[in-house]
Amino acid sequence: MAMPELKNRPIHAIAQDLAAKSYTVGELVAEYINRIDQNDGVVKAFLKLDKERVMRNAEESDRRRATGNPLSFYDGIPIGVKDCIVTAGESCSCASKILEPVISPYDATVIAKLKSQGFIPFGRLNMDEFAMGSSCENSAFQKTTNPHDPQRVPGGSSGGSAACVGAGFAAGALGSDTGGSIRQPAAFCGIVGVKPTYGRVSRNGLVAFASSLDQIGPMTSDVEDAAILLDTIAGHDPLDSTSLPNQTTNFAEAVRNAPKSFKGVKIGLPKEYFTDGGLSSGVEKVLQRSIDKAKSLGAEIVEVSLPHTKYAVAVYYIIATAEASANLARFDGIRYGKRVNGKDLVDTYFQSRGEGFGDEVKRRILLGTYVLSSGYYDAYYLRAQKVRTLIRRDFEEAFKQCDVLLTPVTPTVAFKFGEKSDPLQMYLSDIFTIALNLSGNCGISIPAGIDSKSKMPVGLQLLAPAMAETKLLSFAQTLQQ
Ligand code: GLN
Repeated sequence: MAMPELKNRPIHAIAQDLAAKSYTVGELVAEYINRIDQNDGVVKAFLKLDKERVMRNAEESDRRRATGNPLSFYDGIPIGVKDCIVTAGESCSCASKILEPVISPYDATVIAKLKSQGFIPFGRLNMDEFAMGSSCENSAFQKTTNPHDPQRVPGGSSGGSAACVGAGFAAGALGSDTGGSIRQPAAFCGIVGVKPTYGRVSRNGLVAFASSLDQIGPMTSDVEDAAILLDTIAGHDPLDSTSLPNQTTNFAEAVRNAPKSFKGVKIGLPKEYFTDGGLSSGVEKVLQRSIDKAKSLGAEIVEVSLPHTKYAVAVYYIIATAEASANLARFDGIRYGKRVNGKDLVDTYFQSRGEGFGDEVKRRILLGTYVLSSGYYDAYYLRAQKVRTLIRRDFEEAFKQCDVLLTPVTPTVAFKFGEKSDPLQMYLSDIFTIALNLSGNCGISIPAGIDSKSKMPVGLQLLAPAMAETKLLSFAQTLQQ
């Protein structure tokens, strides 16, 4: 068999091709590199790709397969990696000048898990600097473009990962989601993205942005692939004290056996998401078609309320910036990364951080330091934590009335470069994704259709209770089929 079109070719199909010896891992990886050489000059998803290393990994995989000892059914399949998840021997800049010189001495737990199944960690993918942003425009190095329209952003902060999968540069990718950074770019690029339950996936080796919100998750061309990758990376990890014990994962199996109908399933529509968030008519139309489809598959649609939704953006930008200001304090020019020597130690800190961080990162550090400072702590940070509890309770109440929630991912389709130069406008575009990170539950963004005016993909979000990924993924599969 000749090499098939790799764009949108799912991991499970590639694994079958490889098992049938339709092509070798070496040929597969060479074809991805070929696609990147031809198209990444425009897409700009990759910050780095060590071609020799991945070809070497491919040869090793082919040798294992030839002797009948593949590490798994998926041995040899390349998975792109967001530049904030460390891979041993590779750079990890978080798209920031301050970490540009850093080479990681170790593998993140998720990378070690991928490797243990034979998956090939494939390059370093662009992002907003330290995952702060929604468009990849905050990368210190390059602007990734949307594979559906180079005038438009791929979303962010995992925009490089979404563009990589959307353009067919790798079979899947890993992203991280603190306030929507997997789901929003997945929606903008027409792919699937999962934000797992907080604690489902180890954060060991993920450069921290906001530690109580960050989760790593899969970005793939379909739901089954997302389940395959989540099976691979999920699980308790003694190296991350917030990772949850006693996890059983068999998501791929559940997806393959997904129900053909929604009989007996209650899908909740949070009314605030359809009225208060500035939903564009194009996105609403596509969503309405999906809701109708769910109904025709037998679902009972119920209206629910998440009354504290209107505070979610404000609460997030207090808690996330507070945590970020603490997490980013370690980048001081002494222990990691770029150093600019000043006249004394304090001056060296100032110069290194001043030159190393971009504007958005500095804005977040300033905001975070402010909300944590004495006198303002009670007024902002403490209050935000209390409202966070109310937001979590909103979800608990809503899930008493339905199995999953169906919502938009973003108010609009992918916007054009420069369109949201006002940071507040950019922050407000996170309205539908942020509450899930505050509540810690799990969610998925799947392609719902194409907006008739812009011809850009529209995503749909399903949200489920904590640890209910099996239900989340199998319902997503039912809807996707
Ligand atoms: N867009 C949000 C922010 O700028 C979310 C980012 C993320 O999830 N990493 O903070």
